[in-house]
Amino acid sequence: MSLNQLSALEVAAHVRSGELSAREVLEASLAQIHAVDGVPGSLDQKSLDPAEEQKVHAFIRLTEDLAHRQAEEVDRKISAGEDPGILAGVPVSIKDIFTLQGVETTAASRILYNFKPPYTATPVQKLIEAGALILGKVNLDEFTFGSSSESSAFKPAPNNPWETSHVPGGSSGGSTASVAAEEVALSLGTDTGGSIRQPAAFCGVVGLKPTYGRVSRYGLMAFSSSLDCPGPIARTVSDAALMLQAIAGTDPKDSTSSVVPTSNYLESLKEGVKGLRVGLSPDYTHLFYPDFETGELGIESIQKEISESVLHAASVLADLGAEIVENVPLPNAKYSIPTYFVVSRVEAASNLHRFDGVKYGYRTPVEVEDLQDLIRRTRAEGFGSEAKLRILMGMYLSSEGFAANYYQRALKVRAMIRRDFDRAFDPHGEYRLDVVLTPTTATTAFKRNDIFGNTVRMQYSDQMTVSANHAGLPAVSVPGGLDADNLPIGIQFIGPDFREDLILRAGYAYEQATLDEAWRAVRPAVLRQEVAK
Ligand code: GLN
Repeated sequence: MSLNQLSALEVAAHVRSGELSAREVLEASLAQIHAVDGVPGSLDQKSLDPAEEQKVHAFIRLTEDLAHRQAEEVDRKISAGEDPGILAGVPVSIKDIFTLQGVETTAASRILYNFKPPYTATPVQKLIEAGALILGKVNLDEFTFGSSSESSAFKPAPNNPWETSHVPGGSSGGSTASVAAEEVALSLGTDTGGSIRQPAAFCGVVGLKPTYGRVSRYGLMAFSSSLDCPGPIARTVSDAALMLQAIAGTDPKDSTSSVVPTSNYLESLKEGVKGLRVGLSPDYTHLFYPDFETGELGIESIQKEISESVLHAASVLADLGAEIVENVPLPNAKYSIPTYFVVSRVEAASNLHRFDGVKYGYRTPVEVEDLQDLIRRTRAEGFGSEAKLRILMGMYLSSEGFAANYYQRALKVRAMIRRDFDRAFDPHGEYRLDVVLTPTTATTAFKRNDIFGNTVRMQYSDQMTVSANHAGLPAVSVPGGLDADNLPIGIQFIGPDFREDLILRAGYAYEQATLDEAWRAVRPAVLRQEVAK
């Protein structure tokens, strides 16, 4: 087995015990990146060699020097008998939406192509302090706007390591692809409507969106500030728990970060699921897609293999002693996407005002008439079309005369979505759930260019994930099988506020009980080729 297949827990244990040096781990990780990643995404991609079609393209920028210095520091601490941290020597990639002092941070947008932030995001800083090795910045949809990573201004966009003709999902597609391709053990992503969980499902890895406020947003470029959550991406549930351990907690630099104490997520995995109440909802068995002629919500089935995986997971958990509670009503979930369209666009338009070409980032090279002209041209040239669409929509929806009809109303529906979950989790109520079990997505990964350009269809790939963002609740996607084309299926556990321990426990119990299932032995295509070589 290669070093790159080790879990983060195993790497950290071996490095701490001195069996492996952080330097060796780093070399193996870099070798894997060089073998499978191909050319990095860039703003001026010329024609692509056909062989590159089979590469992953997760990275925009490697930070080799930084990683070498970090590895040296970990190895120095080990030999000096100092504590190197819980992620000692673990290779990590960072979604390029988090600041890293002195290293270009682009949000995959032309408008920030040369921005070198003067400070490091809190979750990144915490990873560094825990002994992780930061290998580089990975690609994403521009400003995290998308579900396929194809809206990135940095091309080539990442591919799905399971089948490189397919997208890895988005917006944390570079993150999940880098973990699935065993380039790194962990990645730091963000989830506003599903951007950690949807690509985790598409790439067959674990993706956790913590409770809103559990992980600091300081240094995360804001998309929709009331929904954004940084979170871990890993290959195993225990690795996700370990990473959460490192990044969770109060941050005086983020006023929305929570003061609720963190728990020992790794320790609680062992508690099992006996007696845990796991809910299944009829409101998560279909996709509610709008009919643009009538304005009504039409119903579409979700991929059969995905519904079967959810039911199989429920029976596995039942065998382990969990109580399955069927028919839990979450009726407002079907309005989650329309609500998200309004809330996220209004907040995005507001957050993107700061990019004007005056203080940092891209500035139009043409001669301008005045400041207005400079700002207008800079934004016209700097933002991609999805960002522009969102700015226009956000401005419209929040403008005087329309806000009451759209924005205010969306906030009310958002409260109703939250109330559905309050009822389901109420310890004195009818359902008394510990977790809700749902599909993560309605389909497995789609082909490149199949959905890109249809912004509504693209948005609907978050139908199963976005309610947890509206409600602020923690949710995790774990691998739940493969479809007939060998594309990964994700199943999702949603839990009550700050009960990451519960959803991780459910995911871990399911994972451990199904380790011997045949699909777990199948490797992503990019890794099969590597073995064949
Ligand atoms: N796919 C969603 C969108 O396009 C979610 C993005 C996210 O979670 N950052 O907005």
